[in-house]
Amino acid sequence: MSEPLKILLLGPQGSGKGTQAKILERELRIPAFSMGQLLRDEAASGSELGREIDRIISGGNLVSDKVAAQVLRARLSRPDVANGYILDGYPRSLEQANEFTFDKPTHVMVIEVPKDESMKRLGGRLTCFTCGRVYAMRDGHAAGDACECGGKMEVRTDDTPEAIEKRLKIYDEETEPLIAVYGGQGLVRRIDGVGSVEEIHNRIVKALER
Ligand code: AMP
Repeated sequence: MSEPLKILLLGPQGSGKGTQAKILERELRIPAFSMGQLLRDEAASGSELGREIDRIISGGNLVSDKVAAQVLRARLSRPDVANGYILDGYPRSLEQANEFTFDKPTHVMVIEVPKDESMKRLGGRLTCFTCGRVYAMRDGHAAGDACECGGKMEVRTDDTPEAIEKRLKIYDEETEPLIAVYGGQGLVRRIDGVGSVEEIHNRIVKALER
């Protein structure tokens, strides 16, 4: 059997990572999960760690590298990742890449979109708190509508203009340097993230073949 695909999906908030991860999950038949969702799940569990995470996320800040690594390591110890996985939103900084010693990605896909496009998309975004699927208000959805999984669509507490600004700035400052490191290892594929969901998916599939 071929080597498991361990795909990291990077890109600024609103670049469509979550949407593309769900499509790849179905197509490649390997699980997709986002660091943000893993952290929100922990927050929803009501554990002491979860309450701390909730406070940090709501302010638009990043959780500590130690906490992120701890939550991810627990996820990667589950048997469903034996044939690979798609991980969205980790690592976000050089420090996190250095903490990420417990596994090694095979591909680092960077989805690129201009800032004004990110702001526009996030401003009208709804997220299902049960499965993590995202919806757009411009497609006629509203907070409280039912997701196809049976959960409910909500506006995330960190999808306010102030928190979005802050998250985009953190991305520029912290994530670009780590992309350079993975680039040096020949793992990076840059994807133009402007276009239809299907167009972007096709670009990703093509880039995975390179
Ligand atoms: P996201 O769903 O990717 O927008 O992430 C939502 C929030 O989760 C972020 O604003 C951070 O507070 C936190 N988060 C997600 N990924 C990470 C990470 N790799 N390191 C630290 N915090 C993270």
